[in-house]
Order: sequence, then structure tokens, then C-alpha cells
Amino acid sequence: MPDQLELLKRLQAIDGELFRLRRAQQEKPVELEQVQAEAAAQEATLKAAEARLTALQLAQKEREVELQTREANVRKLQGQLFQVKTNKEYTAMQHEIDSLKADASLLEEAILKAFDEIDEATTERQQRQAELAQQRERLRAERERIEGELAAINEQMAQLDRSRKTLMPDVPAPTLSAYERVLNIREGLALVPVVDNSCGGCHRRLRPQVINQVYLKADLVTCENCNRILYFDETHSKL
Ligand SMILES: [Zn+2]
Repeated sequence: MPDQLELLKRLQAIDGELFRLRRAQQEKPVELEQVQAEAAAQEATLKAAEARLTALQLAQKEREVELQTREANVRKLQGQLFQVKTNKEYTAMQHEIDSLKADASLLEEAILKAFDEIDEATTERQQRQAELAQQRERLRAERERIEGELAAINEQMAQLDRSRKTLMPDVPAPTLSAYERVLNIREGLALVPVVDNSCGGCHRRLRPQVINQVYLKADLVTCENCNRILYFDETHSKL
């Protein structure tokens, strides 16, 4: 039955390609996952930088309010200083004023130092924002590339399907169903040549009777090990 094998060879060429494309179709989205994960990690880093900046700004605000309160207290006490009756009271109040002024001066130092920290945190937030924007742009470009590749794959698959449909009616139904059964089990490779007296699919050595049957093309001959349909091909075998 030479025609039958020739038809199967043409089908196998199409189906092998279809299986390869189907696998590529499934693997493409995985390529995006890495870029997506990096973008998510950078988003988290930006959030942390923003939280740090907000915390620093809040603490600074508290220090400023605290400083204003102390300065107001100093002014209030200085106003009262002239109303005290005794030296002892005067000294005690002066002491309190000095203490408040010392506190205020420490607060002023802390405020100046925190300004530097806030500047650094602001710069860091800007850097993280820029990095995230870059990563998002990368993600967008990758998505576009992958969508383009997927569209090309779909186009190719549609073409192959059309070629397949024109071939199918010529293949006898039992042959086609035997072929397709093996095709699905063996992930796209159902028809293989005899290669150096072995199966071209699983590489198991074939019995001489099996090789003879393949050579005679009397019927569909399958590998006893992997069930793939065998054919004889001069480029691969010598009898
Ligand atoms: Zn085999």
C-alpha cells in the first residue's frame, strides 16, 4: 500500500509541525511571567520607599509641632519672668526656660538631620519610580512581541489545518484512526523510518521479520515497543 504510506508521510510532516507550534503556543505566555514577576518585585520596592518617605515626613511634622510648642512655652515663661516675687522663683523659672531652650535646640538639630534623610528618601522614591516605569515599558514591549508571535503561530496553524483537511479524505479511515491514536500518545510523532534496523522513534532494535514486512509494504507495520508506524527509507536504511 504505497499510497497510504505516502499520504501518512505528508500528514506526519504537517502534524509534527502542528505539535511543535501548539507547544510554542503554550510556552509563549511563560516568557512573560519572568518580566511580570520582576515588575511586581519593583512595585513592592517602590511601595516600601514611599512608606519610608511618608513615615519620615510624619515624624518631621511631629518634631516641628513639638518645637513650636516649646518655643511658645519659652515665650510664655519669659513673659512671666517679670511677675515673679522672689529670687528663688526667678532662678527656678530661668532654669526651666534654659531647659526648654536646650530641648528646642536638640529638636532643631534633629529636624535638620531629618531634612537630609527626607531628601535621600525622596531621591530613592524617584529612582524606584523610574525603574518601575522602565520595567512596565519592558513588560508592554514583551507582551506586544509575544502577542505578535502568537498571532503568527495561529496563522501558521490555520494554514496547516487547511492542508491537513485536504489530505484527510484520501486516507482510509482505519489507517487514519490508527495513525492519530499513536500521534496523540507519542506527542506528534506517529510515523518513523527504520534507521539502521531500529525504530526511528524509540530506537529499539527491530526483529528481521518486522523489517521485512516494512520493506514489502504489505500492510501498516508498527514498532512493537512504541507502536509507531514504520516505513522504509533508503537514506536511513540498507538491506
Ligand atoms: Zn519504536
